[in-house]
Amino acid sequence: MNTVDDVKQKLDIVDVISQYVKLQKSGRNFKAACPFHSEKTASFFVFPEKQSWHCFGACGTGGDIFSFIMKKEGVDFGQALHMLAEKAGVTLIHQSPQNVKEQHDQHEKLFKINEVAAEYFHYLLLHSNDSETARQYVKKRNLAPKTVENFQIGYALNRWDDLSGHLIKAGYKEADILAVGLIVLRDKEGYYDRFRNRLMFPIRDIKSRVVGFGGRALDDSLPKYLNSPQTPIFDKSSIIYGIDRAQASIRQKDSVVITEGYMDTIAAHEYGFENTVASMGTALTSKQISTLRKLSKNVIFALDSDQAGLEATTRSILTIDEQIPKEHWIPWLEAKTYNELGKYEVQVVEIKDGKDPDELIRKSPEKWAKLLEASQSIIDFTLKKEIDTITRNKPGDKSAIVGKFLPILSQIEDPVRRAHYAYKLAELINLDGRSVWEALLNSVAQEKKHRNTKGTRKTINYAQQGDDSRRIEEYCLTLLLNFPDLITISKKIDINYFEHSENKDILLTWQTDTNMEVLVEKLDPALREYLNHLYVDNNYAYFVNW
Ligand SMILES: [Zn+2]
Repeated sequence: MNTVDDVKQKLDIVDVISQYVKLQKSGRNFKAACPFHSEKTASFFVFPEKQSWHCFGACGTGGDIFSFIMKKEGVDFGQALHMLAEKAGVTLIHQSPQNVKEQHDQHEKLFKINEVAAEYFHYLLLHSNDSETARQYVKKRNLAPKTVENFQIGYALNRWDDLSGHLIKAGYKEADILAVGLIVLRDKEGYYDRFRNRLMFPIRDIKSRVVGFGGRALDDSLPKYLNSPQTPIFDKSSIIYGIDRAQASIRQKDSVVITEGYMDTIAAHEYGFENTVASMGTALTSKQISTLRKLSKNVIFALDSDQAGLEATTRSILTIDEQIPKEHWIPWLEAKTYNELGKYEVQVVEIKDGKDPDELIRKSPEKWAKLLEASQSIIDFTLKKEIDTITRNKPGDKSAIVGKFLPILSQIEDPVRRAHYAYKLAELINLDGRSVWEALLNSVAQEKKHRNTKGTRKTINYAQQGDDSRRIEEYCLTLLLNFPDLITISKKIDINYFEHSENKDILLTWQTDTNMEVLVEKLDPALREYLNHLYVDNNYAYFVNW
């Protein structure tokens, strides 16, 4: 999170404006006599949901928390940011002006090195005399030549200095090759290739840039799968294998299938299931989920049978409480991901007999298609699993199972879905639907009471308010900064279209001079980190279909 967001998240516009103006509740909003012009009837409004204000009287303007302070205190954006940061207890980070541009250039260099390495590995697999075992392995795994080409699968020779020698000869510097994780420093001096005698899988981001590699050992070396280390361009927590090739299909089919390994995803693509990605064997993180969310809200997990079927699965996914006991975690989900998953249609494909998707798909793509079609909501799935473990006609078991599921069902926000599952549960255990439904209503009421006493207001994320306009503004700025040729367009944009002060400030400065160095110099140092986010990290492809 950047500093501006942090400040917005910690402050409520109602609290801040209340310190200057006596606000009166008006429906869901607040009103007052405008502090900026004199009037008898109140036409100054504050909107808590959007975290914005507007004067419908003589001023006819409005804005966010920053623009209010700017206007009221007669300060510029930077000063307003400093004042509010202090109020919020946020420390401002000052990036040096050169950093932003330098970081951008450095990233480009690292991408280039990875690209060259990927091409080299791929060439070696296809043509080197020393790649015979690797080619045999590829054959044994039934990887089609087209697939090897599409995924640019390669081979790292069993030598200590092969790739590094190739890169140095091509003019790349040792420090950069080290930064991208392709070599490892020796204790005393020198370095050696990280990947040796491994089948190489380039890992690409959504823009198809090679951010890192996964290497599968072809001998008994451990680990069996070795990934690039964390580098400036390889953030393990946000990478999704196959996303570059899957994104179009995910949008088109409006669903994404998540497997565990590279091989599963590769096999799926080979047989036309192109909306498949891999979580890379690590826990599925919030960042990964947020990337996928922009493509589709329908998530299908392909689970090994031994991972599935825990009552804890459902509880964890649906729970609203962040403090989930550890024994209820799903091993491959981060704790904070659960809340987000509750908002999705999460489906589960159960794979029995200890097989993995790779084998299944290659054996029978038709069967895989049927399995996907038969994927069931995670609640259905868990209900059935749980009910299999009880004796249906024992009253004690029945009430135990109702007791177990009510807290889960009461978390579902959509009342229709909630009712659906209540009746389904009743049917499964031969109970009258009404009695389960009534118990559920009771449980929902309890839940609400519990939440109210906990005081959820404190946990509201103010920065998320007005999220849509923010994304549009960010998208617009990311494009303008990355394509300076858009200068004529940028000058035509009416500054009042922007609601968020930090974005206004950047656009205004950019309109006077479309030069990154000038921009960085002119902006308040506290905004550089945010600028960096817009210019370097932000991926405009992510915004499509948000
Ligand atoms: Zn006014």
